[in-house]
Amino acid sequence: MPVETLIDTQGRVVRDLRISVTDRCNLRCVYCMPAEGMPWLPKDDLLTYEELTRFARVCLGLGVTGIRLTGGEPTVRADLPALVRMLSGLKPGLDLSITTNGLKLVAMAEPLRAAGLTRVNVSLDTLDPKRFHQIARRDRFHEVIAGLEAARRVGFTPIKINTVLMRGFNEDEAVPLARWAREEGYELRFIEWMPLDYQHGWSREKLVPAEEILAQIHAAFPLEPARVADPSAPAALYRYLDGRGRVGVIASVTRPFCGHCDRIRLTADGQIRTCLFSLEEYDFRKAMRGGASDEEIVELLRAAVWRKEPGHLINSPYFKQPERGMSAIGG
Ligand code: SAM
Repeated sequence: MPVETLIDTQGRVVRDLRISVTDRCNLRCVYCMPAEGMPWLPKDDLLTYEELTRFARVCLGLGVTGIRLTGGEPTVRADLPALVRMLSGLKPGLDLSITTNGLKLVAMAEPLRAAGLTRVNVSLDTLDPKRFHQIARRDRFHEVIAGLEAARRVGFTPIKINTVLMRGFNEDEAVPLARWAREEGYELRFIEWMPLDYQHGWSREKLVPAEEILAQIHAAFPLEPARVADPSAPAALYRYLDGRGRVGVIASVTRPFCGHCDRIRLTADGQIRTCLFSLEEYDFRKAMRGGASDEEIVELLRAAVWRKEPGHLINSPYFKQPERGMSAIGG
């Protein structure tokens, strides 16, 4: 373990930095955003690529080993490969990944790979184009599939698929998605719907719990828990007994894994959040634009991480949904 690390009061060490590069998105998924009327961040508040790279460099000096770019939809930020090139240049072999809806991958997979991106997660909630239109409020299913194929063609591996299941929309798709992912060689992960939507429409009844998803998949394709190298990874992984890959569940609501959390998040406007559900943020935009030295950034970061929440309170009567939604935090 490097001498310089970011550690909290629970003894958890930060290894994973999620950077949101924009709060904007080219889809309007029903569990995330309203159809219209999103309050976008002012453009001048977005950290520049130079500011993001500086912040990432400081974090890499403090024991961070992986960076994931997210949003909003990260690929809608102008010239994303330029940022990837700047970040990958910080450290040879850096684990540098992206979470994307895949719409722009047909054009961008190659330049992102050439710039040093190492891994891709693509979000897809249904295999039915009409349903995709209903969930994402845009008729763009085939572009996601083409984007996935482009990512595979340029050599990204493994390609992970993120799926959110919701009652009344796509709760019957666990097995079809699992079958498709097995056939295509993608690693599928189901994320439980979390109370982070702008509309505040979340309810426990509408989320499909991991246990139900796993039971359905197990009945079709028998599973066993997989041994994992990284206990702080959010997904609980299962392997198919026939050897055809793995499937994961990110059961943030029904099986919280906060005790192993090694993540912090930088929002597109330069706020550090130590938990998806934080009610407090730390303003690094102000610090950096106010002339803070690297040493001062390090001290602010240490103080923020020290105060990292022991766990989220979704299952407690004291839970309060944060003001920012998932798209402005960076999922
Ligand atoms: N636009 C990119 C994408 O679609 O992957 C990156 C950002 S998106 C916020 C990241 C992931 O969060 C997606 O897989 C999305 O389905 C998921 N997501 C969005 N809102 C969510 C919520 N309230 N609960 C659980 N997952 C959510």
